[in-house]
Amino acid sequence: MCELLNQAAASASATGRSGPSERSGPSRRGVLGGIGTALLGGGIAMTAGMPGAQAAPRPGARHRTRLVLLGTGGGPIVLSGDRMGISTAVVYKNNVYVVDLGHGATVQLLRSGLLGDPSAPANVRGIFFTHMHSDHTVEWPSLYTTAHINLLRARSGEPFRVFGPGDRPVPPRTFPPDRPAPGPVNPDGPISGISAMTGYLKQAFAADFEDRIRDANMTHPDKLFETHDIDISRYWTVDAPGIPPRLPAGTRIPVWRDGDVTVTATLVDHRPTAPAFAFRFDTPDGSVVVSGDTAPSQNLIDLAQGADYLVHEVIDPKYVDELAATLPPEIREPARQHLLASHTTIEQVGRDVAERAGARNLVLTHLVPMNNPVSRWRAAQRGYSGKLIVGQDLMQLGVGTHRVR
Ligand SMILES: [Zn+2]
Ligand SMILES: [Zn+2]
Repeated sequence: MCELLNQAAASASATGRSGPSERSGPSRRGVLGGIGTALLGGGIAMTAGMPGAQAAPRPGARHRTRLVLLGTGGGPIVLSGDRMGISTAVVYKNNVYVVDLGHGATVQLLRSGLLGDPSAPANVRGIFFTHMHSDHTVEWPSLYTTAHINLLRARSGEPFRVFGPGDRPVPPRTFPPDRPAPGPVNPDGPISGISAMTGYLKQAFAADFEDRIRDANMTHPDKLFETHDIDISRYWTVDAPGIPPRLPAGTRIPVWRDGDVTVTATLVDHRPTAPAFAFRFDTPDGSVVVSGDTAPSQNLIDLAQGADYLVHEVIDPKYVDELAATLPPEIREPARQHLLASHTTIEQVGRDVAERAGARNLVLTHLVPMNNPVSRWRAAQRGYSGKLIVGQDLMQLGVGTHRVR
């Protein structure tokens, strides 16, 4: 979510236009409604979405493939304690694949049982970043520096795989367009993708690493992690506008094949932020597609064809209107359009995206504002013939019918 929105959101909260007092967060009824949807929907392994829950109970029977919503709040502004920052996991057997690490993701991994323990090992295999916005990466420093103790895993000796955007070759265009371009933030280095960011983290935490490597025999972070910039050179050279090309139908950018799990991606439209990815996970039990941040995207609709679960971002256009109203009149409408051009509204996500993808289940996440009542999000059902699920933190959804003990 762009900075303009954050400033406006802060302003709106300060003036009481849309602060927590007016949007009191998911009501108990709303929360229970969300859980009820999950429990009644079939294919549910376990739900532990009660806000404030200290830990998710262990399910008795589990689906072999599960979708786990770790955090469902969108944007860097924290408006509610009931939703942590955006983070989503796909689990196959004991193998865990995490998309994005927003505020609180490490604690949410613990609460969901996905950090593992000696009696129920979980094995985080891969971490996937959709784009470099801070609300999707802010917990990466936490996991990067404490993975040696927090990511208990089978001792395969393999490094954790990390995937995300490469360095951006040119900065995004300015907004409004006639504003003079500011100077670079990092003049001596790149506009960091995931590998460059991780390199900077290694430098920033060198004192901690040196202590632990020398004094506590910690594994060197270069051996613990294998970081990959996803190669998009065949498809696009990112430019200042950051509007991705329409990829030929059927294009799936290869990311990783890990045994039975295949991970592919496409380019989505989060202009001017680029590249921005959606990811698709295919296991023997079915498929899960995670949208990342995007406006309605034909590339995403292609990637999500026939998916069991489409996990998609959503923004409330009424909230955008409220935010725009706090801005100076001359930029009010351009700013509104700018915000709506890089996100997907409640009205669009079911009718224009999930329906056209033929996704069996649409799971709303990255909810902006995160303190909207659940009933407001249910309007996304209009024009969508599949099953709508309003995401709640720690909700777990089974994929397919295969269960493991
Ligand atoms: Zn974003
Ligand atoms: Zn975001």
